[in-house]
Amino acid sequence: MKIDVVTLFPDYLTGPLGQSMMRKASESGLVEFGVHDLRQWGIGKRRTVDGIPYGGGAGMVLRPEPLFRAFTELQSPDMHRIYLTPQGKRFEQSDAERLAKHKHLILLAGRYEGVDGRVRDRLVDEELSIGDYVLTGGELPALVVIDAVVRHVPGVLGDERSSQEETFSEPLGGGLEYPHYTRPEIFKDPQTGKQLKVPDVLLTGHHADIEKWRKEQSKAATRSRRPDLT
Ligand code: SAM
Repeated sequence: MKIDVVTLFPDYLTGPLGQSMMRKASESGLVEFGVHDLRQWGIGKRRTVDGIPYGGGAGMVLRPEPLFRAFTELQSPDMHRIYLTPQGKRFEQSDAERLAKHKHLILLAGRYEGVDGRVRDRLVDEELSIGDYVLTGGELPALVVIDAVVRHVPGVLGDERSSQEETFSEPLGGGLEYPHYTRPEIFKDPQTGKQLKVPDVLLTGHHADIEKWRKEQSKAATRSRRPDLT
């Protein structure tokens, strides 16, 4: 899979994309990242990319010419183009799973007041928002989308179950995941002195009982914390 990002601030992305799972995904050749500075397609000597809005108003708008040039250069027969905007569809786990099936994603991170309306009309297949708040730029939203998508590319997570049985996933009915415990089996709370024990069922080695307990925990957590998902 190839993921290109068009941005005015490439450094926002290169750091995070070179860490942890994202680094492994690219080093193993499962995902190829391309981070592109929009300014290289800017207009004139000053590489201008923005202009004042027609009709007046505060802030600048990203001009169409640099963006049309960028998309022409990056295009491929398999591309799927996404503009990150607070006006887009709310990005969810099901979108991450769906987008992971594409061969080539091109993500556009906006800045200022956003992009010229003609870019939205002509260059974009889909608009996504990461939540109902306004950020200064689309770089963090692009990273959020990339991280969530790349985990679903087969082979990226060592144990495929990690991405299958987790919060919002089908095996958990779209609800919240059950709680996890690790060593030590008994931990003394340094503040209260109370002995905190791992639930007994997890120590039995009885897979059917553990499975049942986890399903119950998952349902109870979803009911109490995210009733909207039930
Ligand atoms: N004027 C725009 C509006 O009112 O809808 C907001 C522009 S915002 C300051 C600048 C850029 O940040 C946007 O073009 C978009 O790429 C990005 N952005 C901000 N909030 C976002 C969100 N919640 N989800 C996705 N992208 C967002």
